[in-house]
Amino acid sequence: MTKIKAILTDLDGTLYRCPKYEAEIKRLTLEIVSEKLGVSVEEAQHRLTEARKICVTLTRSIEYVGVSRHYFYDELSKRLRYTELLKPDPKIAEFLRQLRSMGYKVAIITNSGRPHALGTMGALKIPLDAVDALITSSEVEPKTSPKPYLRGLELLGVPAKETVYMGDRVEDEVKPAKELGMITVLVSNQEVVSPWVDYVIDSPFKLLEVLKKLEAC
Ligand SMILES: [Mg+2]
Repeated sequence: MTKIKAILTDLDGTLYRCPKYEAEIKRLTLEIVSEKLGVSVEEAQHRLTEARKICVTLTRSIEYVGVSRHYFYDELSKRLRYTELLKPDPKIAEFLRQLRSMGYKVAIITNSGRPHALGTMGALKIPLDAVDALITSSEVEPKTSPKPYLRGLELLGVPAKETVYMGDRVEDEVKPAKELGMITVLVSNQEVVSPWVDYVIDSPFKLLEVLKKLEAC
């Protein structure tokens, strides 16, 4: 029997989805990268698209084209109008607290830098104390590196095989979690069959059903 002790979850696209917010982040990303590199927005877009083919995640692609992720997320957090674009969703904090009241340790692992992650969480009304830990790319290398996952396990004091990782992207974040031995849950509206994915749910709140199944094994 596998006794699950902890949940590591991604933030963006997993605990919430907001296309309008994502579109504005995309626009600002091109603005910041083009300014920093001294190239047109079109050229910045081209370089990022090419980088993404190699680096998989946006955060790593931004670094690949020559902009530090720390600079990028600082700038993004200064320019993004968080509370205008993202509405509070008290269900998320309630869900995270519910998981903890059931005895699970919970950490958010995001490739965002800390100021941007806190801006997003603030707008959604997810207080820091709703989770046991928040791991961002300000402290540790971003996913797809194993480092943020290992930091999460270390902070929560749990082994990988007793941990569930929940995210919305297979190659970017679920694959490294599976490679470390975690049980993986993909949040997706589509049926996905992948050796890296153990369960697919169309809403993060359905994680409770997955945990029930796992506890019954
Ligand atoms: Mg995500």
